[in-house]
Amino acid sequence: MTTPGATPSPEESPGRPAFPGDRAPAPLAATAFAAPTRVGASYDDAADVELVDVTKRFGRFVAVEHMNVSIARGAFYSLLGPSGCGKTTTLRMIAGFEQPSEGEVLIAGQPVAGVPAYRRNVNTVFQHYALFPHMDVARNVGYGLRQRGITGDDERRRVDEALALVRLGGLGGRHTWELSGGQQQRVALARALVNRPTVLLLDEPLGALDLKLRKEMQLELKALQHQVGITFVYVTHDQEEAITMSDVVVVMRDGHIQQQGSPRDLYERPVNRFVAGFLGLSNFFSGRLADHEPATGAASVSLGDGTIIRGRLTDPAARPSAGAEVTVAVRPERLSIARADGGAAAPLEHTTRLTGRVQQATYLGEQNEYRVETELGELIARRQNNEASGALPGVGPGDAVVVGWEDDANLVLVA
Ligand code: ATP
Repeated sequence: MTTPGATPSPEESPGRPAFPGDRAPAPLAATAFAAPTRVGASYDDAADVELVDVTKRFGRFVAVEHMNVSIARGAFYSLLGPSGCGKTTTLRMIAGFEQPSEGEVLIAGQPVAGVPAYRRNVNTVFQHYALFPHMDVARNVGYGLRQRGITGDDERRRVDEALALVRLGGLGGRHTWELSGGQQQRVALARALVNRPTVLLLDEPLGALDLKLRKEMQLELKALQHQVGITFVYVTHDQEEAITMSDVVVVMRDGHIQQQGSPRDLYERPVNRFVAGFLGLSNFFSGRLADHEPATGAASVSLGDGTIIRGRLTDPAARPSAGAEVTVAVRPERLSIARADGGAAAPLEHTTRLTGRVQQATYLGEQNEYRVETELGELIARRQNNEASGALPGVGPGDAVVVGWEDDANLVLVA
């Protein structure tokens, strides 16, 4: 039964996918971290976490203001933004470590105002995972179970399942100091998952790992989330991490949501300059709106020198008036670049075409990046580093080049 005021357990929540441990345990180890089978955003329509007009003040300082989010059951949500934008505060309000100053938090449809953290059916994984040093791995993982009176064979079975999920099967007897950083983080994950929470909250959980391990763990975490079907709310300031793992990314700044959507939406249709600059690189041009067709989003922008650029407004809700200040953003990979002295690869056909000089050429491994000084300022172009895409061997600082792109690369941002 659901305790009054507490959130229902997964077993009690209608429509919730079964935790793997609820099925026959044998194949778990074999299937752990298999490639996700669900394609696209196939999570449930019901919300597991809702923030309704939530504001959090610390004294007179407003850390989060009028935040509205509905996190779908079984989805991987990331809160992304620069340091101090309110991500952790938001997570702590869901966990129950902080109470909103205004507004309401709901978990699995139940308001949780006044419900203490330990009574909420959510678990948190922190960057500093703080394993208990006096307990072996299995005792660490089983801690939450014992707190709830689950001991003996039941505890052992569920600990084994959780360890298999995070690929640590057979390591239950190890001391925690005998594990690598990545393995310790997996123990922390197993410890958080073993109680079968409705929602798993993760606060920069990979922050302490080196880059290679971090990238591996990103994919593992994503696969694990698909497998267990638990809603994940993940805090990060690393845009690449958020893009790699999330079904939905919520971009925050100064306590406010700037935009939320799929990684593709945010990258290809950022609604403002902050989002366009925070997710990936962009070339920006400032100008004034010359013309705008609300039905299609088609827009013309007059740049300072009179150049007219045609593109589309990324924010379908925006209704800017003619003459409004806008920004045009163009992703570096949408720019073609060729030597000015000709060659088959010259971008002669492009609608916008500028000549310039290379300021800097940087080898990035799979890509080369060129910073080119043009009449519209410095532009960044990136080219795939393979012969098929026509690499530019030998092009370097001082060389004259032509840079071009198509109208559909122009993202017109109103803010
Ligand atoms: P980071 O990525 O650096 O962890 P964040 O986006 O998670 O940042 P929060 O930790 O949510 O940011 O903090 C948001 C703002 O609220 C910051 O300016 C922070 O200093 C402030 N803040 C957080 N907790 C408190 C507190 N207990 N008392 C006063 N101010 C606080």
